[in-house]
Amino acid sequence: MVSTRAIKESMRQRLIEALSYPRELVRNDMDLDDCPHNGLYDDEDGRCLACPQQPECEWLYNNEEFVALEQKPIAEILAALEIASDYVGAQITYWEHDSRRCRCTSCTWLRDTLRLVDEARAP
Ligand SMILES: [Zn+2]
Repeated sequence: MVSTRAIKESMRQRLIEALSYPRELVRNDMDLDDCPHNGLYDDEDGRCLACPQQPECEWLYNNEEFVALEQKPIAEILAALEIASDYVGAQITYWEHDSRRCRCTSCTWLRDTLRLVDEARAP
């Protein structure tokens, strides 16, 4: 018999894995030419707070592996995935892909992730 705890842990692993694609996407999308921190978000630096890329940068900062996603409650990881889904969804709309049928990495990721989020939310 599989314990509830083990099921929760494996769900957490799948959610963390799902975050790796949008992380790469957001990182590749950022323009760091003028960034004084080379993309390392600093919430005490006024330049970071005023930066147009602040939302993406803060999201990345909060969801890097080294911030120990393993320690975060599932609800927080789910919230991060929802932001990521919106982000990837916006890209897909911009590219005018049909996210229900398209086989590109972004559309596949979005379909899989929405299913995973539903599964994680199910009682
Ligand atoms: Zn696509």
